Order: sequence, then structure tokens, then C-alpha cells
Amino acid sequence: MTQGTLHALDARTTRPAEFGRDALIVCDNLVRIYRTEAVEVQALQGLDLLVDAGEMVAIVGASGSGKSTLLAVLSGQDEPTAGRVRVGRWDLAAMSRRDLVDYRRNTVGFVWQQAARNLVPYLSAWRNVEVPLALAGVGRRNRAARIGELLDLLGVPDVADRRPGELSGGEQQRVAIAVALANHPEVLFADEPTGELDSATTDEVFAALREVNRALGTTVVVVTHDDAVSGRVERTVAIRDGRTSTEVLRRPDEGSSTAEEYAVMDRAGRVQVPKEYREALALTHRVRLALEADHVAVRPDRG
Ligand code: ADP
Ligand code: MG
Repeated sequence: MTQGTLHALDARTTRPAEFGRDALIVCDNLVRIYRTEAVEVQALQGLDLLVDAGEMVAIVGASGSGKSTLLAVLSGQDEPTAGRVRVGRWDLAAMSRRDLVDYRRNTVGFVWQQAARNLVPYLSAWRNVEVPLALAGVGRRNRAARIGELLDLLGVPDVADRRPGELSGGEQQRVAIAVALANHPEVLFADEPTGELDSATTDEVFAALREVNRALGTTVVVVTHDDAVSGRVERTVAIRDGRTSTEVLRRPDEGSSTAEEYAVMDRAGRVQVPKEYREALALTHRVRLALEADHVAVRPDRG
């Protein structure tokens, strides 16, 4: 066997094609290591992820798998330790402070799990949505039009005059989504926005996110620990140990929808074989690979 790297070649330039050139969001071997005095935590361990403009993607994974770290990096709140991360025209690993402020204010919107973190408690729903618009210098009339439009879209026009404490959990999160969308971001990030909600209210918030994605064309990346969510969005990406491991794609067809689960192959060709498969065939350490006409076989190494 020869040692070498195989690149996809761009036919016109014969230079290696850039990974994810046409995607809106590109994470390429993304690494984030937290260092404290004694310990080093590898929160992201070479994560690859592509998201196209206009997609809605759910990120699932156990607690501690790196979901929040990924969203913090993508939204410009945290810096990667290594790897490439791009959102639109922004290279997040090499941005000036001023560009970061611009990016956070105009390119991305963010919704947190804790409703209290998203909304100012002493302002009405209407005034909460007005805050980012006022900060961006939008004039009074345009502000009013935008606030009305967003509260309508999110199905909460009738709570405009109420403060967060007078809203249900689902209403609070829908107002929070309106706040995040005020300045027409290209991408909406939401980190477990339904973590404190019951399942009926969770459905309501996911319906609102889908509606935002459909009606405004905003790209939506939503983190959840709830596995049932893959039934609610078209594409679900699972993170395990700081890497993307599997994807479920759900293609709506007539009436019912079908879902197919895929394993994710990283750029070095690594694929994680699910634990059930490994256990069923006692696959450990060394396996046999065989190239067949239309698939690759993985067999236990039994002499
Ligand atoms: P998730 O959102 O999937 O629960 P996180 O991204 O919050 O996972 O955390 C991933 C790992 O990184 C965990 O082991 C967590 O303890 C660690 N971690 C997260 N933030 C920090 C931090 N600021 N300092 C040290 N370790 C952190
Ligand atoms: Mg988290």
C-alpha cells in the first residue's frame, strides 16, 4: 500500500476542490480544546459539518458531546483551537474584533435554552423585539413594521404588550426567536430552545422554527438532546465525542415520510460503526475490509 492523500480535483484548475465550497456553513476538522490548570477537555475533536443555505438541521447528542461548543464557535462567541470554520463570507478562525461584532449583530441570530437569557424581563414582547432594531439604528416606522411582521409569523401577535413573566414557556421562546430574527440574520442558531418545555410545547416551538425556515428562507441550526426531534426536521446530525457520527435524512413523500440513517465519513475516510453492529459481530480493533461491486464489506478478523 502506498502512503498518499487523495484530493477531489477541480476539473478546470486541477487544484484540490475546497471542502464545502458551495455550503453556507463549513466546519473542517474543527477542534476546540478547553485547558484549565489540571485538565484538558477536547470538546470538539476534528468535527466536519456542511450546511447549505436554506437548510434546517437538528444537532443531537448526549450531554457533553460538544453541541454547545459547536454553536458557540459558529455564532462567534468562542474561538476554535484548530481547524477551519466558515459561515458565508466569514472565516471565524481569523476575524477582527470589529468584524465579530458585525457578524454577531447582522449575520447570525441566537436563541438560548433559558428563556430568561433571551428576553429582558421588564420589557414587553414588543419592546424586546425592538431592542436589536434600535441598536441597529432602524427608524421608528420600519421598526414597527418589522416587529409586527415577526410577531405575526411566530404566532404571538396577541401577546405583544405582555412581559416575559406573563407569557407561557412556548410563547417566551417564540418571542425570543423573533428577537433573534429582528435584523434579518442569514442563520438562526438555537441551543436547546425546548430544553425546559414539555413535548406539546416543544412541537409548537419546532413548528415555529420550521415556519421561519420556510417563510423567510433563514438557515436554521437547532441543538437538542431530544432524539424524537429527528421526526420533526428533514436532517438530523448526531455528534458523539466532539465529532459528527451519523445523520438521519427524512424525505417527506405523499402522506407519510421516510427516514434513512447514514453514517458520516470524515475527510480521512473514517466511519464510526455503531455499537450494536460492533457487538453483534464482535468487531474489535482489527476488521477486514473488502471492496465489492457496489458496497464495502466490513468483517470480523477471525483468521
Ligand atoms: P453539550 O452542549 O453537548 O452538552 P458542551 O459543548 O457544553 O456539550 O461540552 C463539551 C465538553 O466540553 C464537556 O466535556 C464540557 O464539560 C466541556 N466544556 C464546555 N465548556 C467548557 C469550558 N468553558 N471549560 C472547560 N470545559 C468545558
Ligand atoms: Mg449544551
